[in-house]
Amino acid sequence: MATPRIRFERVSKSFGTLQVVKDLSLDIERGEFVSLLGPSGSGKTTLLMMAAGFENPTGGSICLDGRRIDHLPPHRREMGVVFQNYALFPHMSVADNIAFPLKMRGVGRSEIDDRVKRALDMVQLSAMSSRKPAQLSGGQQQRVALARALVFEPAVVLMDEPLGALDKQLREQMQLDIRALHKRLELTVVFVTHDQAEALTMSDRIAVFDHGNIEQIGSPRDIYDRPQTRVVAEFIGETN
Ligand code: ADP
Repeated sequence: MATPRIRFERVSKSFGTLQVVKDLSLDIERGEFVSLLGPSGSGKTTLLMMAAGFENPTGGSICLDGRRIDHLPPHRREMGVVFQNYALFPHMSVADNIAFPLKMRGVGRSEIDDRVKRALDMVQLSAMSSRKPAQLSGGQQQRVALARALVFEPAVVLMDEPLGALDKQLREQMQLDIRALHKRLELTVVFVTHDQAEALTMSDRIAVFDHGNIEQIGSPRDIYDRPQTRVVAEFIGETN
């Protein structure tokens, strides 16, 4: 078996006495699109934040291509992160927002210009490069966040409910765009959502979360047709 791109091994996380991730193991292969699906409060975001380096596990390990990363600061982990609320820098232009991760990594000026240009083109925002985030629509802001997460060619893209703030039509368009980018750039994506339909249409595999652990993991077909526990059946059954 090839080394997984990312491996969570017996990872736990507690906040005080509250254990929100419980001895959880998960391997994600290179180029896979894996959704973490489950009700609010089931620990999905916390797992993602531990991969990104914004939270520390209280137990277990996280490896990228076989090397432990859980002690590294976020900018040394090769993780591109996209949040629901975009988290763009409001005082910076679109181009400067996208350039930021490259500056953090000490990339030279001309290469930054080149890469930002390509990233803008990829998300169809070349005409908006000098605008400030507040001058963009929600969908456009999320495209900037996506470009900023992809511009340094991260090993893994972590997305936390990235489409949650968008209206239905825009959301469906962005689902297609993200899927297309995933295929074209052969991205490894970990995608947090509580939306069953979104996980079913976008994922190679779905990990169904409940109370800090994975109830079932499998292809969308498996999860939909062959739920293995009552929790999964009930949660997927809410899809309409
Ligand atoms: P999900 O992403 O599935 O909605 P989260 O990972 O955000 O779930 O949260 C899991 C649980 O951990 C929730 O009960 C939440 O209140 C709690 N939690 C998350 N972050 C913190 C924190 N920084 N301090 C205390 N409790 C937290």
